[in-house]
Amino acid sequence: MEPPGQTIRPSTAEPETARQSAYDLPFTGLERRLVADGLRPIHARSLWKALHRESGVPLRENAAFLPPLRRWIDHHLGDTGTLHTTPPAIVADIASSAGLTRKFLLRLDDGQTIETVAMGYPGRFTVCASTQAGCAMGCVFCATGQMGFSRHLRPGEIVTQVLHARNALALAGRTGLRNLVLMGMGEPLHNYDAVLTALEIISDTRGLNLGPSKITISTVGVVPGILRLAEEKRGYHLAVSLHGATDEERSALVPAGKRWPLAQLIAACKTYCTTTGRRIFFEWTLIAGTNDTPAQAARLATLLTGLDAHVNLIPLNPTGGYHGGTTSAAAATEFQRVLRTAGIPSTIRQRRGIDVAAGCGQLRTAREKTAHH
Ligand code: SAH
Ligand code: SF4
Repeated sequence: MEPPGQTIRPSTAEPETARQSAYDLPFTGLERRLVADGLRPIHARSLWKALHRESGVPLRENAAFLPPLRRWIDHHLGDTGTLHTTPPAIVADIASSAGLTRKFLLRLDDGQTIETVAMGYPGRFTVCASTQAGCAMGCVFCATGQMGFSRHLRPGEIVTQVLHARNALALAGRTGLRNLVLMGMGEPLHNYDAVLTALEIISDTRGLNLGPSKITISTVGVVPGILRLAEEKRGYHLAVSLHGATDEERSALVPAGKRWPLAQLIAACKTYCTTTGRRIFFEWTLIAGTNDTPAQAARLATLLTGLDAHVNLIPLNPTGGYHGGTTSAAAATEFQRVLRTAGIPSTIRQRRGIDVAAGCGQLRTAREKTAHH
């Protein structure tokens, strides 16, 4: 694999495919296309609603469409059309944690597989979506990092993960999609343009209507991406994966730390806080004996002083390619106590659904192993 510093290329490095997905287009893009073909904005609104609100019903069976739109769909979304609406194929669909977590392995048109998770709470659920097939950042404990980078996802491949999870849960009688977190496979800010287009589509009030305050982008700390988000003031929540509070300790776990040292990263986070007025979440995967000592908690507290920060402590989900073990409950509590004493709020998160390999990238890894044996 290339060192992470070399892998940041423009997100236009997309796979060659013959046809674009209708889900790649924001509303204005779809409308422009229809209007250019002589249709009216009302047709665009009707098609958009069918795609994003009622997906699951085949377009050709939609009785609400006016004849001109029907003809346009036959021509452009048919087998030989320029656009398609083919959903990803479902390779696995596993329920766990007393049915509250549902994990999907989806196959894209070029055979790549990606993971999407719906995490339930009574009356609501959060979708955790992937932004890349694999990841170039190489964090040592992460199953996705261990598989390396395959490609960026296109906007529609991110949007349809959310739609698929919503539809699958609706079929099971569960409604209430409340939040989206980009914490599945991949580094969102390495695929900036496609991710931001996808989020614009997902936030659209005429469609999924998940506003920016319901969406969290989790990043390994791609400084130029954080600064661009700050500049564009999009209003999404930001979570930054730290895992180490000195450059040496952090880079041993997160190679991207060599490219963007902590001084630069924390400065970018401060800019994000001041320009957006938003608190930043910091993620810290607790690994026994590696980064779970009280001294490390104290260093983390010092690093975050002066920032409006909340720390999410995530006990490690062990992966095949990494020897580290998960922290003990006692060490996690002590780590949290040190942070609290220093005035830094934190939450210990259980990565739910370990029984379905719900750690990022773990289901795909498990499936590939089975397939090879
Ligand atoms: N690339 C982004 C988002 C995807 S990873 C990022 O790194 O932030 C989402 C979170 O899961 C990150 O904080 C990551 O460090 C954490 N994570 C990855 N593998 C893990 C594992 N095996 N156990 C616990 N946390 C893990
Ligand atoms: Fe990529 Fe995030 Fe995994 Fe690191 S933790 S390898 S950035 S997906």
